[in-house]
Amino acid sequence: MQTLTFAELGLSAKVQAAVEAAGYTNPTPIQQQAIPVAVTGRDVLGIAQTGTGKTAGFVLPMLCRLETGRARARMPRSLILAPTRELAAQVAQSFEKYGTNHRLNVALLIGGVSFDDQLRKLDRGADVLIATPGRLLDHFQRGKILMTGVEILVIDEADRMLDMGFIPDIEKICKLLPPRRQTLFFSATMPPEIQRLVASFLNDPVRIEVARPATTATTITQKFRFCPSGEDWAKREVLRDLIRSENVKNAIIFCNRKRDVAILLKSLTKHGFNAGALHGDMDQTSRMATLDAFREGKISLLAASDVAARGLDIPDVSHVFNYDVPWASDDYVHRIGRTGRAGKEGASFTLVTHEDSKALRDIEKIIGAPAVWIGEPPTEEDLSFSGKRRRRGAGRGEERGRGREPRRGDRDRRPPRGEGERERREPQHADAQPRREARPQQERPRERRPERHETEQPRERPRPEQRAERPRREEARPQPRRDEPRPQPRNEPARTGGGGGAPVGLGDHVPAFLKKAVRLAPR
Ligand code: AMP
Repeated sequence: MQTLTFAELGLSAKVQAAVEAAGYTNPTPIQQQAIPVAVTGRDVLGIAQTGTGKTAGFVLPMLCRLETGRARARMPRSLILAPTRELAAQVAQSFEKYGTNHRLNVALLIGGVSFDDQLRKLDRGADVLIATPGRLLDHFQRGKILMTGVEILVIDEADRMLDMGFIPDIEKICKLLPPRRQTLFFSATMPPEIQRLVASFLNDPVRIEVARPATTATTITQKFRFCPSGEDWAKREVLRDLIRSENVKNAIIFCNRKRDVAILLKSLTKHGFNAGALHGDMDQTSRMATLDAFREGKISLLAASDVAARGLDIPDVSHVFNYDVPWASDDYVHRIGRTGRAGKEGASFTLVTHEDSKALRDIEKIIGAPAVWIGEPPTEEDLSFSGKRRRRGAGRGEERGRGREPRRGDRDRRPPRGEGERERREPQHADAQPRREARPQQERPRERRPERHETEQPRERPRPEQRAERPRREEARPQPRRDEPRPQPRNEPARTGGGGGAPVGLGDHVPAFLKKAVRLAPR
């Protein structure tokens, strides 16, 4: 395919100026193909994932098409549906960025933000309405919004919508819109349900498919570090060493559990790192503030859970650290995909313990190569005791005599995926296989639907993880905190080990930083 410049895509002068101001020199493949079609008003089916530049692929032609005409109160001229609040907010930011030369009213309808503010914006007349499906229907059902003026509909990340159970909502919304409209539809994958949606609601679309952004193999250096102890304090120490020894501009540090995100944040802060956290228990305002601080470089380390970080566009991350090996290999791909974006160099480091053998093998399968170790690699024996309490080097006394506590690798104890303390997962996108089979059909009465918290939650097909009402195992029976000090083995010197957590041997003297409430929002 011939490479086109922005000037050749049919964009207006105002939009081209904004693109130039954004510092983009060449359109990405999805932009090259989608923009010339979209500016003419034709429907587009874009098969592309985050990181390909797809947002500008629909925002830029929309800006051109919205240059003429005016919005009327409560009758938006265009509608963008996104699966999560964060993605909706990111699209809104794109309108700000690329729409600097336009005077368009952009309204954002997402959960967690006051209805009144949103209504005021709608009343002024929205040229662009960006919404999560649930919140949009809420407004519609309250009679606050009329959809009959929508000229352009964008459905972003349709496969994630499917995964989150939003398809019935999407269908309802599509039926409320005028049939004579333009539809720009984006999905990373095309499962049958999505194909059906496309067949029902798109009109002779031009299908555009782009390759995944640069594969991990070429731009991301992936390394693994074996942590013989497997204890959290030891892992934190290893992590700090890695951060200090690497040229880390900014990094995301992934934990499997949100509780560990909070503990890690506290520890990093205590050790003088400029860190923030992102996890599902934070309210929307704190999450956005943390993300903004990270984007602006005010925070250089971001401890995060998969749920909180999925799908977010955080450019220029130099490093990804997996404090925990993710339980699913597709999470590994998503995590490390936060670095090495848009052809840039990136590095990922994964801490591995005895109990991560199976997860490690899965990752090796998915990356198609054996793990590259820094430091002493584990022996076969080290990794052959996965799932059992392992006593490495009987003479070393590292783990002997310690109080038994629940460990991540205790597969018999670990709650099944999606239950227990693990944070509710957002759905897969990109190439990952959605786990739809496991989801029960369950209708929730609209009035009783709890306020969406982590993301816009599925309405009709909640994920099994969302059966959170069930008492979690952790909560059901008291268990020792992982960071509680463990009994000091006899004849073993107290370990102070850098003080990243509760060092062994401190008895009841838990370090103060672990006792203080965790502060999640940046100051
Ligand atoms: P997206 O796939 O829309 O999430 O975009 C991924 C990232 O690529 C965002 O940070 C954009 O700002 C950036 N981007 C979009 N288009 C271009 C372009 N033509 N050149 C360079 N970066 C771009």
